[in-house]
Amino acid sequence: ATPLESWTFVDGEWLSGNPPLLGPMSHAMWLASVVFDGARWFDGVSPDLDMHCQRINRSAEALGLKPTRTAEEIEALAGEGIKKFSGDTAIYIKPMYWAEKGGFMGVTADPASTRFCLCLFESPMLEATGFSMTVSPFRRPSIEVAPTNAKAACLYPNSGRAMREAQSRGYHNALMLDMNGNVAETAASNIFMVKDGVVFTPIPNGSFLAGITRHRVIELMRAAGTEVVEKTLSVQDFLEADEIFSTGNHSKVVPVTKFEDREFQAGPVARLAREAYMDWAHS
Ligand code: PMP
Repeated sequence: ATPLESWTFVDGEWLSGNPPLLGPMSHAMWLASVVFDGARWFDGVSPDLDMHCQRINRSAEALGLKPTRTAEEIEALAGEGIKKFSGDTAIYIKPMYWAEKGGFMGVTADPASTRFCLCLFESPMLEATGFSMTVSPFRRPSIEVAPTNAKAACLYPNSGRAMREAQSRGYHNALMLDMNGNVAETAASNIFMVKDGVVFTPIPNGSFLAGITRHRVIELMRAAGTEVVEKTLSVQDFLEADEIFSTGNHSKVVPVTKFEDREFQAGPVARLAREAYMDWAHS
């Protein structure tokens, strides 16, 4: 198979492939001072790209890095990068910041050593056929124990082990709880449930990424006349749901077709949420 096409803007130029950027002396490689964001380009549109470009800068600041590009500059660079691709396969747009050096005693990142790159790579939009999910024994950290206010790479080994554990039991994805045992999110997306026509999703409490797609879907569903309630939700609530679906930049709105032993049909509300998102994205 031909490798997926990718382009990275770094130090003022566009490079194809996977340019080597980190050495063993890089703070980012040693102590994980890396933040990133993920947006999409598909069918000629890039929904909420401005939000993703703003969030990467907030994530950088949360880790003590110093953003070196404005959100508007990142957005413009993404527009340039998209034009470099030879085909029209969907693209994942990934701005990143990292620290090259440590500060005093090496633990802190030296903000003056902040580096930036913008990596774009082909990543086809998957059909939203749905996925199975099981409650993870691993939890989402609270803001007191991890930088959950950033989309930081250091949070993902926790998501990774949750997903591996779920997959070892035959499920696609993990439903992660917060430190109080309430539902937070999946390994890498936000989670919604439907009961008697009302849509529910966990209220942001610092334990999960309150995603840009989540925000957009809430707004679109409310505009379409659906009641959407943000509240503390339990595993039991999800077990008794009529429908479950997830949101995230990668695949947008995807139904959950199995939660623990319960099978779900891809339901009308999830379908409406996806259609509303796609209609808005293309408008
Ligand atoms: N939670 C986590 C842990 C994620 O990695 C993502 C994907 N960025 C999301 C939620 C969904 O966020 P967004 O809609 O902003 O992509």
